[in-house]
Amino acid sequence: MLPTTDAVPIDDTRIAGTLERQRLADAERVREVLAKARELKGLEAEDMAALMGVSDPELLHETFDAAQHVKQAIYGRRLVIFAPLYVSNMCANECTYCAFRARNTELERRALTQEEIARETRMLIDQGHKRVLLVAGESYPREGFSYVLKSIDTVYSVTHDQGEIRRINVNVAPLTLDQFRELKHAKIGTYQLFQETYHRATYASVHLAGKKKDYDWRVTAMDRAMQAGIDDVGIGVLFGLADWRYELLALMQHIRHLEARYGVGPHTISVPRLEPATGSDVASHPPHAVSDIDFRKIVAILRLAVPYTGIIMSTRESAHIRRETFALGVSQISAGSRTNPGGYAESERENASQFCLGDHRPLDEVIRDVAGLGYIPSFCTACYRLGRTGQDFMDLAKPGEIKEHCDPNALATFVEYMIDYGSEETRVVGERLVEDVLASMGPVPQQMAASMVKRVRAGKRDVFC
Ligand code: SAM
Ligand code: SF4
Repeated sequence: MLPTTDAVPIDDTRIAGTLERQRLADAERVREVLAKARELKGLEAEDMAALMGVSDPELLHETFDAAQHVKQAIYGRRLVIFAPLYVSNMCANECTYCAFRARNTELERRALTQEEIARETRMLIDQGHKRVLLVAGESYPREGFSYVLKSIDTVYSVTHDQGEIRRINVNVAPLTLDQFRELKHAKIGTYQLFQETYHRATYASVHLAGKKKDYDWRVTAMDRAMQAGIDDVGIGVLFGLADWRYELLALMQHIRHLEARYGVGPHTISVPRLEPATGSDVASHPPHAVSDIDFRKIVAILRLAVPYTGIIMSTRESAHIRRETFALGVSQISAGSRTNPGGYAESERENASQFCLGDHRPLDEVIRDVAGLGYIPSFCTACYRLGRTGQDFMDLAKPGEIKEHCDPNALATFVEYMIDYGSEETRVVGERLVEDVLASMGPVPQQMAASMVKRVRAGKRDVFC
């Protein structure tokens, strides 16, 4: 077994050198990088840095176009949908950007009971959700970490009418190796954790107290998760704390470290931008605010650099930005979210929420919008349940084969959603999309998808391949 305290090599000098060398990359160099990226083989740090400085409208257009090409080739037209489930906003840490920080007296504290978690789950099921991201602050009720394990059991145990939650991903503070083993045993999908910032000095300046002050404990969390057998991990950066160019290259070093050690990189990357949060000045005035155009560049560069890794866009962003980034490479989105514990059964409450949302639309409205734009809203959970995780998933994803599974699974779960939960308006838009997607498929996936959709229409549920 590898030692769990091994540092993840984030090399600031190398990052500075790369940024400096590529600072004045000319159009020829940018086009060379884009041509390489179009081959779906990913990019190295030097290539990514060459794209970071692009500002000429034509080159920018070509960059976004390349990202769109890669996204389409690997992910097709589907967008996976999930909802966060905040079980507790209690926290012992002092992250200056977060409303849940320990010293924030403006926040109403609450850890949901298992009954309340079951009630929240029922609300999500009744909206049509199948995938949940369980989120908590870093301080659990008396039972400690087993609160998280019990919460997972509770969510999986709830069924309501024809629905249930089929995959739980988890975003909780870094765990010990043994705790990660317990988490794996609880049958989670992805373990997700953001480094927030890879820049040590910035990290120290925004994490003032509690266990989260320890940069190394956090940056090595994915090593422990992988050693414990959780091979789908999700990483991310909280954009706005340090220079985004630095963060992307450091993130890439983290990815290369995981690939070299465990043979597989992260399953997903999240790209949260700082949003205003109750009692936080930093959140309202990010020291390195990322503009909308740079944000689109971040998504596009990631899509080109790690084509087989999912990119997650949350409801922190407005409907407009979300729409723009779907085309550039986003593969998963949250919808109808609340970030206050109890927020689904009760209501959204700013004085108990983690941050302000940019997209407040209910799930059905988001689904209708996504379908109207030509994307297939997918509630698919097949890979994880068939054991297609980690290396197995990547092996399947790399030659583009996963599309043969994903598109039929997306269509079957979308049709299931429309029949069981969709509004009349959404069904009208959705049925048009289903017809259109089926007509555009190659013969093999088309036959598979048509037969799966037929089974769903005949009343069968949870149909996947
Ligand atoms: N408490 C655990 C932790 O910090 O890792 C997990 C849950 S925490 C609620 C989830 C994520 O929310 C954090 O990792 C951070 O990136 C993000 N977050 C915190 N404050 C935010 C803000 N003001 N705007 C946007 N995202 C924020
Ligand atoms: Fe607590 Fe996480 Fe918020 Fe930090 S980001 S204060 S650890 S909930």
